[in-house]
Amino acid sequence: MIITIDGNAGSGKSTAARKLAGRLNIAYLDTGAMYRAIAWAALEHGVDFDDPEALAAIAREVSLEVDCGPTHTRVKIDGRDVTEAIRTMEVNRHTSAVARNQPIRDLLVEKQRQIGRHLGALVTEGRDQGSVVFPDADVKFVMEASLDKRTERRHAELVADGEEVDIAEVRRNLDSRDATDARQWAALYAPGAAIRIDTSHMSIAQVVDRLLAHIRQLKHGM
Ligand code: C5P
Repeated sequence: MIITIDGNAGSGKSTAARKLAGRLNIAYLDTGAMYRAIAWAALEHGVDFDDPEALAAIAREVSLEVDCGPTHTRVKIDGRDVTEAIRTMEVNRHTSAVARNQPIRDLLVEKQRQIGRHLGALVTEGRDQGSVVFPDADVKFVMEASLDKRTERRHAELVADGEEVDIAEVRRNLDSRDATDARQWAALYAPGAAIRIDTSHMSIAQVVDRLLAHIRQLKHGM
């Protein structure tokens, strides 16, 4: 069973996807971590982010390993585990250029499909999972939340990770990323394309219960 969860940063999709995968005991794939890992590698190699060809070249050259299980997605670049290192504001700022780069998208989309084929069952989250990567997924969700709520959540996460960051900058970064990301998943807003959940006023437990209820309902209908 392939379950896709798409949504903007701070919509609550990562935590919900991880917890859902844990409850179903299937692997959880955080595809944002793959885009972030390439941004991290490009920063490490001093690549010019305004040079799309140089960015695509570094994405092809490095080895990106993705290890996913019911409670984690870990990413390695050239054998080095960068799962924690990719969560900084600096990587946040540089990931949009990676996400806009079509050759990199093609590369990562293919890798995600390979993971799906290999594992068979997956909760996968990102921006394009239900639209581009797994258009035949069994269940597709889109998660939403207000910009205020998303800013609050992302800021709290960064602070918890020990980053000193201005809340206004977090909001600006989310807002600009939204503009880049929106085109990836506009298709999921078509009627019937995906189940939409607004998480602004829901706890994680409530979100996971809602997801499980939809999945059970679907299984009964099969
Ligand atoms: O989900 P997360 O915030 O970690 O994703 C980081 C960035 O990677 C997003 O802002 C988006 O630009 C990009 N991304 C993407 N497609 C995906 C997952 C993430 O373009 N499937």
